[in-house]
Amino acid sequence: MNEKGKEEECDFTVVLQQPTPGPSSPLTPSTPNSRAGRRLGSIDNPIVIEEESDGVGEDDDVIILLSRPVYKKREGKRSTRNRVLSPPPSTSTSTTIRTLNKVQTSHKDRSASSSHAPITCHLPTPPPSESPSSPISVRLTYTSIERPIPSIRDLPFDFHSYTGKHLGLRANRDIKRGELIIKEEPFFTLPIGDIDEDITSDHILPLLPLSQDCQGLFHSFTGRTDRHADNDHYVNIIETNSIPLISKDSQALGLFRHICRVNHSCTPNSGWSWVEDEGNLHLYAYTNIDCGEEITASYLPQKGITLSYAQRQRHLLNGHGFVCLCDACATSAIQIVEADTSLALFEYLQDEWMETDLGEYAADIHDALRKLNQAKSILLSNDKFNAVGDVLEQLYDVYAIHGMLKRSKDAALQCLDHFTVCLGKKAAEQSRYAALAMDPTLFERWAELDSSRERKKRKRRREDKAVRMSIRIRRSYEDTFASD
Ligand SMILES: [Zn+2]
Repeated sequence: MNEKGKEEECDFTVVLQQPTPGPSSPLTPSTPNSRAGRRLGSIDNPIVIEEESDGVGEDDDVIILLSRPVYKKREGKRSTRNRVLSPPPSTSTSTTIRTLNKVQTSHKDRSASSSHAPITCHLPTPPPSESPSSPISVRLTYTSIERPIPSIRDLPFDFHSYTGKHLGLRANRDIKRGELIIKEEPFFTLPIGDIDEDITSDHILPLLPLSQDCQGLFHSFTGRTDRHADNDHYVNIIETNSIPLISKDSQALGLFRHICRVNHSCTPNSGWSWVEDEGNLHLYAYTNIDCGEEITASYLPQKGITLSYAQRQRHLLNGHGFVCLCDACATSAIQIVEADTSLALFEYLQDEWMETDLGEYAADIHDALRKLNQAKSILLSNDKFNAVGDVLEQLYDVYAIHGMLKRSKDAALQCLDHFTVCLGKKAAEQSRYAALAMDPTLFERWAELDSSRERKKRKRRREDKAVRMSIRIRRSYEDTFASD
């Protein structure tokens, strides 16, 4: 990661209250007129800081309380992009009380699992001489996750308000297939243990308060408003707008000023790719995008290429709170049925090559190539450009196991081109197809089914056997003559 959090200090005035023990104790919101009232205990920030005094000595604890209930995440209510959601069960409420140490420990645990630098809070313990009800000034130091915000100048798109959708991105010039539309650092990152984990206010608490710029960007996004909307404003915005950032060792949800504005399409003309070592999300054009055209990406899970119209709508409605009216969805019933049928056929063809050993699948090369070309044409006719890579990889394998040098090389080059378009040049060059395009014989099962190679092997074995026999015969003659 190249970002280094910026250390900031800000003064907050908070009202210290004697805490009432027990999770059901009433919580006191901060004073509306105080500066802390805008940042602490407000609707945007549920934190209230209280002092816990045991009446002995000076080791009083500072307690961070939530000014309103923390809603446990309803199981299955997932709205973060690229996740499959299930119906929401009942909501349970509980109030979370954490000591400062606990908050910091929890924060450290999360930061250890991510390369991102979240906020660290250092709250001084208030002096015991202060009256519990009198306002005191607390100096709050935190490392902001604020990062440089890219300027929209020079970017190949503008923000545009589309009817029936939120703000989207509109190309302001022609964009070529494979072009990097934008690479962007997240302005907010939420480390999570698992991408399917339900996020709650507890996850976000250690990251608060946000810096002012970060707050501004955060609240420029809108959360969903349907029945699946989370009661916590922060959770709702993250669930509605964040993008999963999956790395080798850590997973996080990220918010991006521009890329999070890309609207969904079931036939997207662009897609994003998280580059872990750069700390950037790249948005690549899958097709040529004309000036004035909307830039779209898919919110469906990666393996959701073959979802039918009904499955897609269910996923998007439950997960993201909208009915998709993209070109693939807002069309005639007959075309929807045709598309669903062809995608079901693709799924059948894909299952076959995924579940069959390559040697068995490619034994009849003509049959294998016929099925793979059929799968490829189904994807292209349904504008599923980003899924074509799977077919190209299988085509390479079939050619390579038969030891067909030129065709293997062409297929490896096509894989390389596909990954360059979808993942960028650097990722493509790091893929196995960069090496295989140079030397296709590096494939581990190269020419395993090459019949001409098998014939040569058998011939060589016959010749070796003949040589061994002739040596044995000569020796027996030599022994005979020697004895005479
Ligand atoms: Zn759609």
